[in-house]
Amino acid sequence: MLVTSCQWIGERWQAFDESLRLDPLEETSVASGETVSYPNATDVPPPPPAAPTTEAVNRSARVAVLGYHDFTADTKSDNDMVLPARLLRAQMERIRKAGLPVISMEEFLAWRSGEGSLPPFSVLITIDDGWKAVHDIALPIFLEYDVPFTVFLYTDYIESGDRSLTREEIRRILANKGTIGSHSVSHQNLSQQKDRSADDHKAWLNTEFTQSLEVLRADFDEAGSVSNTFAYPFGIYNDLAIAAAREAGYEACFTVNAEKVSWASDRYRLGRYIIQGTDGANFSEAIAFGQAMPAMSPRPSGQNAADEVDERLKVLRPLPYSTIAERLPMISADLSGYENVVPDSIRLQVSGVGQVAAAFDPETSTVSYQTRQPLRREHTQARLQFRHGQSAKTETLLWTFSLDRMAIYEQKALGDMGK
Ligand SMILES: [Zn+2]
Repeated sequence: MLVTSCQWIGERWQAFDESLRLDPLEETSVASGETVSYPNATDVPPPPPAAPTTEAVNRSARVAVLGYHDFTADTKSDNDMVLPARLLRAQMERIRKAGLPVISMEEFLAWRSGEGSLPPFSVLITIDDGWKAVHDIALPIFLEYDVPFTVFLYTDYIESGDRSLTREEIRRILANKGTIGSHSVSHQNLSQQKDRSADDHKAWLNTEFTQSLEVLRADFDEAGSVSNTFAYPFGIYNDLAIAAAREAGYEACFTVNAEKVSWASDRYRLGRYIIQGTDGANFSEAIAFGQAMPAMSPRPSGQNAADEVDERLKVLRPLPYSTIAERLPMISADLSGYENVVPDSIRLQVSGVGQVAAAFDPETSTVSYQTRQPLRREHTQARLQFRHGQSAKTETLLWTFSLDRMAIYEQKALGDMGK
């Protein structure tokens, strides 16, 4: 019997609860509650009811939100708002090679509201305005890389000219991993009162926020996901605009301030990296998550990924950023480059599994762990910590590798056919 691919599709990143234990920020970012000592065991009150929703939520996760606009099939662009298709493809390739999951707006909102977890680092793709090229050029690339994305539409622009998306194209986007949110009605600077009275300005702001979402819902709710989200035109907002956004009930409003979104980020001021069309500027900064991803530097395509990985990480298996077709891999590290590794100090953590009992061979100075449960997630992160010599400092090696789900699926299908 042939296996269907549904089992792969059904696995979502919310299940990445074990990633809680992998993030170095976690210990400090989640309050553990006060410590109270009780002299007698009988004085100990029963534990408070657990809050099941927060337990699985990774509060130290950080999300890089990318902001695109228009696209061109030309190889070069002289307009910062128009990105060549080849650069978009190269960026999707780099995200994939970095082992960074691309999350949907639904997953993002579930995490923000404490109803779902996210991996430690992830990417959310957004596109402003509603250019036709989103459908003609970007959509096929997103489908090829199997990534979800959100289009922020300003409703006056829909089907308004040769270069704007038609309703039919928007429906096709919604049917293919796309979500839509609001980018206002008229795409004006929301902070400018112009010649309006204070009351008129407030009423105008309310229209920009509420009517835009109403129009989207009326036209597209049946076709797919209209999310309760907003991108400020030009990224400009002020207190009055935020008040109107709040009144309209938005869950998430995005700026163009280049910063990662964390659990603590203000829902009306969520940062976004605008990816510029002429040279893709900002992209490298967007997908860099600091020290925890030491080998995530840009790499020219066509070279073996392993050649460019940080020297320190070449001793790790599976190799950082490699894609493997083995669901029970041996995870190992050759630490012979470190003198006198302290065996008792060795800790190995694997996302989706937690801390594992790694073996250490003093002869070869190799740490190894044979996976016992088949890895189920597309990307696995491993963190190895140890001390060596006289140093009190703990070394940390963190790396990511990916499962080739198609290869595994094919092996499984072939195996089943043989039965
Ligand atoms: Zn815009």
